[in-house]
Amino acid sequence: LGTEQILEFRVMPYDTQLMVVVRDVTQLKLLEQIRKDFVANVSHELRTPLTVISGYLEMMDADSMPPSGIWNKAHGTMSEQCERMNALVNQLLILSRIEGPRKSEQDDLVDVPNVLKLIMIQAETLNADKQHVIELEIDPQLCIFGKVEELRSAFSNLIFNAIHYIPEPGHIRIVWQLKNDEAHFSVHDNGQGIAPEHIGRLTERFYRVDQARSRKTGGSGLGLAITKHVLSRHESHLHIESEVGKGSCFSFGFLNARVNKS
Ligand code: ADP
Repeated sequence: LGTEQILEFRVMPYDTQLMVVVRDVTQLKLLEQIRKDFVANVSHELRTPLTVISGYLEMMDADSMPPSGIWNKAHGTMSEQCERMNALVNQLLILSRIEGPRKSEQDDLVDVPNVLKLIMIQAETLNADKQHVIELEIDPQLCIFGKVEELRSAFSNLIFNAIHYIPEPGHIRIVWQLKNDEAHFSVHDNGQGIAPEHIGRLTERFYRVDQARSRKTGGSGLGLAITKHVLSRHESHLHIESEVGKGSCFSFGFLNARVNKS
């Protein structure tokens, strides 16, 4: 992005021939890079004050508080909000790191059934007071090549979202199976569904269908944006099918990226 010019080529049909459209996108790319750097820097700078505040809040436990209800309430609220802000900053940093293509790092063999098993331990805790029925259909042999931490967040975002957003007690089915030569993951739920006008926007940063409800779940509105970038770095895409009043299915697949565990 120095002084080089960045050109975008598009081939389009024109009558019986093909036409090549060349667009100079140097300024656009430069602005995009400035935005990404800004978000990354702000998130990074917010980390230190947040760590200091969280540290002091932890030290100020109930015993060191004056015996008044307001202090305990204030302490609880500040700790909760600090935790939320920490989660938000961490997600922004993850997003800044994974936007754009992966550098030529080597992929690892990811034991997806084991990753899903660990995610389900957390999911069960989240589900404890919701009582959704969660059905699993996991091929225990099916692994893929990729980056385990990135993939973990893609799998867990979809599972945790289903738990958070469907009315209780709902039904969730999680599938990890080989389908037409593709290692395929899907999360089906019987929730309220998502109207078509929202579906295309769900992977935008901070986009939420119902702001109030999403805020109550503690979500940041970045989960599906992170999922989209993780998948694109693994040559995959997120498919969302949903019917209002019936439920949703979030899924993705990995072509040519599967092996069977020995
Ligand atoms: P958040 O942190 O708000 O959960 P996400 O990017 O993960 O952010 O999700 C974006 C929005 O998509 C959510 O706020 C919610 O409105 C909607 N959403 C995601 N999953 C579901 C689902 N299974 N059913 C209904 N709505 C969903």
